[in-house]
Amino acid sequence: MTQNRVFNFSAGPSMLPVPVLEEVAAQMLNYEGSGMSVMEMSHRSSSYLEIFDNTKALLKKVMNIPDNYKILLLHGGATQQFSMIPLNLMKNGKADYVVTGAFSKKAAQEAAKFGDVKIAYSGADNTFKHIPTQEELELRDDASYLHLCANNTIYGTEWKYVPETNGVTIVADMSSNILSKPVNVSDFGMIYAGAQKNMGIAGLGVVIVREDLLEAHKENIPVLMEYDTMADNDSMYNTPPAFSIYVLGEVLKWIDGLGGLEVMQQRNIEKADLIYDYLDQSDFYIAHSDPANRSLMNVTFTTPNKDLDAKFIKESIALGMQNLKGHRSVGGIRASIYNAMPLEGVQTLVNFMKKFEEENK
Ligand code: PMP
Repeated sequence: MTQNRVFNFSAGPSMLPVPVLEEVAAQMLNYEGSGMSVMEMSHRSSSYLEIFDNTKALLKKVMNIPDNYKILLLHGGATQQFSMIPLNLMKNGKADYVVTGAFSKKAAQEAAKFGDVKIAYSGADNTFKHIPTQEELELRDDASYLHLCANNTIYGTEWKYVPETNGVTIVADMSSNILSKPVNVSDFGMIYAGAQKNMGIAGLGVVIVREDLLEAHKENIPVLMEYDTMADNDSMYNTPPAFSIYVLGEVLKWIDGLGGLEVMQQRNIEKADLIYDYLDQSDFYIAHSDPANRSLMNVTFTTPNKDLDAKFIKESIALGMQNLKGHRSVGGIRASIYNAMPLEGVQTLVNFMKKFEEENK
C-alpha cells in the first residue's frame, strides 16, 4: 500500500496518515459487517449514527472541548463560515477583523456585506510576514467579536498568543493548524476549520461554538446558515458530509492512539525546526515569515531568484516530493508539513535543500 507514495507537501487537500488510508480501504466494501461501505449508509442508520457520535466524542476528548461548546459538522468547508459567522454572531452589527493573509482578508470582505467591519490590523504592507503584537491591534470594546486566522496557510505565519480583547469573544479560523497542538478552547467563542488539512478530507467544515453564541442570528437567512438550527438538529437538518465525518473519526483515532495533541505538537516542532534551522544558517535561502511568527504547518521560503525556485521545484518532483510550489499569489517554495507528513519526508526535503544549495550557489 505504501509503495510508490510520494511525500506530498500540498497545503490542502494534503497527506493523510497511511494507517488511516489503510483502515478506510479495509472497510470500504463492508464496514464492520454492515454489508456496505460508509458512503452507502443512511445517515440515520444505527451504524452511521455510531460513527457520527464517536467522531464528535473523540474530537471533544482530543481537543479537550468544554461541555458548554457545541460541535457542528457542516458542509461548505471553511469559506462557508466566512458568511455564517457574520450572519449569526454579529449581534450588534459590528465586528473587528485581523487581516494576516488571503483567507482572513476574504473573511473580512464577506463580513463587510453584513455589517460594520473594522480592520484591527492589516499585514498587507509587510507582505504578510508578520502577526501583530497586542500593541499593534486596534480593537473596539463594543465589537460583537474579533476574527483572526490562527495559521496563515499561504504566507506561513502563525499566532503564538491569544490576544487580550477586554471581553470581546474571539472567533478563530484554524483550518491549517487545528489538531497540530493543544489549544485552550475556552479562549475562543468559536473555532472553525475546513477538514482537508489536519482533519481529513474536503467537504466538511468543523465548527466548535460556545452555546450562548447560538441565539439571535439575523432574520431571514438561509436555513443551512443558521447555527442554532444546525445545533438543534445535531448537524443533520439535511444529509451531512457523511464520509468526510467518518474519515475525521479515523484521523482522530490515529491522533489519540499516538498520545494526542501534545505528541502532535512535539512531532510538529521537531519537523519544522529541521527546516527553519537549516534556513537560518543558510545564506542562499530566504525564509519568508518573521522568526517570531513562524508557522509549524506551512514553511515558506525562496531561493535567490525565480528561475532557481522553478528549478528547485522541478528537481524535487523527480525525487518524490510533490507540491512544494508556493501559492500562485506569492511564488517561492512552500512546504506544508501537517500532522501526517512523516519526519522522513522533512529529512528528505532538508537533504535536498542542502544539495541544491551546494550545486547552485
Ligand atoms: N482558511 C484557511 C486558513 C485556509 O487555509 C483555507 C483553505 N486553504 C480556507 C480558509 C478555505 O477553506 P475551504 O476551501 O475549506 O473553504
